[in-house]
Amino acid sequence: MLENASSHAFQAEVQQLLDIVIHSLYTDKEIFVRELVSNAADALEKLRHTQLTEKEVYEADEPLEIRITTDDSANTITIADSGIGMTREELVENLGTIAHSGSKKFMQALSEAGQKESSLIGQFGVGFYSAFMVADDVKVYTHSWKTDGEHLVWSSDGKTGYEIEEAPGQKRGSRIVVHLREDQKEFSDGNRIKGILESYSSFVPFPILLNGERVNKVEALWRKPKNDITDEEYTEFYKFIGKAWDEPRYRMHFSADAPLEINALLFVPQENTELFGFGQMEAGVSLYCKNVLIDDNPEGLLPEWLRFLRGVIDSADLPLNISRESMQDSALVRKLNRVVTKRFLKFLDGEAKSDAEKYGEFYQKFSRFLKEGIATDHESKDSIAKLLRFESSMTEKGDLTSLDDYQTRAKDEQDSIYYLIGDSRAAIEAGPYLEAFQARGLEVLFLTEPIDDYVVRSLSTYGEKKLVSADRADLELGDATTPEEGEALAEDRVEGLCEFIKSEIGEERVEKVEAGSRLVGSPAVALNPDEFMSAQMRRMMQAMNPDDAPPPAKVRLEINARHELIKKLDEIRESNPDLAKLVVAQLFDNALLAAGLLDDKKSLITRGYDLMNAALNPA
Ligand code: ADP
Ligand code: MG
Repeated sequence: MLENASSHAFQAEVQQLLDIVIHSLYTDKEIFVRELVSNAADALEKLRHTQLTEKEVYEADEPLEIRITTDDSANTITIADSGIGMTREELVENLGTIAHSGSKKFMQALSEAGQKESSLIGQFGVGFYSAFMVADDVKVYTHSWKTDGEHLVWSSDGKTGYEIEEAPGQKRGSRIVVHLREDQKEFSDGNRIKGILESYSSFVPFPILLNGERVNKVEALWRKPKNDITDEEYTEFYKFIGKAWDEPRYRMHFSADAPLEINALLFVPQENTELFGFGQMEAGVSLYCKNVLIDDNPEGLLPEWLRFLRGVIDSADLPLNISRESMQDSALVRKLNRVVTKRFLKFLDGEAKSDAEKYGEFYQKFSRFLKEGIATDHESKDSIAKLLRFESSMTEKGDLTSLDDYQTRAKDEQDSIYYLIGDSRAAIEAGPYLEAFQARGLEVLFLTEPIDDYVVRSLSTYGEKKLVSADRADLELGDATTPEEGEALAEDRVEGLCEFIKSEIGEERVEKVEAGSRLVGSPAVALNPDEFMSAQMRRMMQAMNPDDAPPPAKVRLEINARHELIKKLDEIRESNPDLAKLVVAQLFDNALLAAGLLDDKKSLITRGYDLMNAALNPA
């Protein structure tokens, strides 16, 4: 071995990844070309930036380009770039461990999704290591942009480890020599490679030369007129810019001259990988100025809740030499953020109207982002609210309605939008709150996701209407349109019964007991007088802090004076006070349970047995 040569073992994860790659998941082996070209383009882009900030760059006059050569007698394909190259440490870090995005995501997907989601895994590229799908030997010749860098070669058979040696004469950048396995010879054929590069390479923003011939014209798709672009071109571009493997779900292409000159091309991917537990998606909209990349992931370019978008925003108004640091607090970037966010929300609204079914599919996967936006993006929350969809007491199970549609069905005098939060539609329908609203022909939205509580709190109003939880104690609902059946208990009896119930339950658990007009089929309902502490909020606090639980909820109990059970209860409170007390205690716990406010469920069961006993052995 040469001086300064060293052998290294792959990190365990790399080893594992290589095993998978070699015994391949991918039938589509040609993707390695795309991965290596994309790395070359990344390295060139990084160099372009380095040149702006560093005084000294090794071989500063080398043109920024990608050179691909095939050699069918040596059975190789070589991909060379004049990008930033790598130092010895960087070779170890970048090509011997999994610290970088592409392959890291892949490994996460693999370990977290398991075998069942193997189709999903096809949506991730495995980056550099994909070369081993076709190679029995890979060499990476490189020289860093740093003037004191070494001339090096990294080589590996992809089995257990790699070597790094000196390689005098290597120019700045990287040259990857892929020695093909016997059965993969096709990739040493220039025409085959040309075919692979054809559609994809036109979006690589640097010249690509294949065996000395230019194959791409560098093209900024987002600055071309829409009519000159085919669907295939859009999709290819999405795959390039988003490093994606799927088809985009939506695309929005727009140009504006005022208030800013903007060309933007944004895509919504097929999947929300956050739903699979892969962690937060990384923002993926790059910022360009007149075709030149300023930053591929600028902070603050779009609000965080739009991190699922992929694409490009190009603004001719940006100063070309803007630094990444100064960009973060640039007023211009904030303005771009506002304009593009607004346009995108308008776009989604239009899509929702023109193809509700397609929007429904998007909503099912991406609604979390919208809801996060409402809770975190004060400026946009009202426009995002337009895009929300919920089931309601007036939709069929599984069908969704918008807040605007709710408004069209609302009663003339109705000044609120009512909702109920619960674990499911069935749970909400089984609860005691809905009946009063249904009896009055009032629609109630069903909010069934944990985040919905935050959403309605953050929103608090929609249009002219307040968003109001239907379990609130202070609601005046007016007269029911369908009068309730049955004779009510006399007023003085009601008063006595309420007092009896209140003294049985105790002041610390019940604020007030009264007969109310809400109930139709249930004997009693617990109403939450605390505007700030919903049942959901309370449960969340209990879950987060089990040792320091909030005190038992104090509620308002509304009884239904027409209900048979209440009338009977009144009858026996003097003749059989022991049984009456038992019934009151159970009635109260039942009401708390239905309200999601019962902390101690054990007594519900033991008391149930006592009641059964009493029923089976009447005094
Ligand atoms: P990713 O591109 O998603 O980061 P890859 O597996 O494709 O993952 O590449 C791993 C890392 O190796 C890159 O992040 C980069 O730092 C380095 N690398 C790969 N190819 C090159 C190249 N041609 N020039 C410089 N660095 C490279
Ligand atoms: Mg890569």
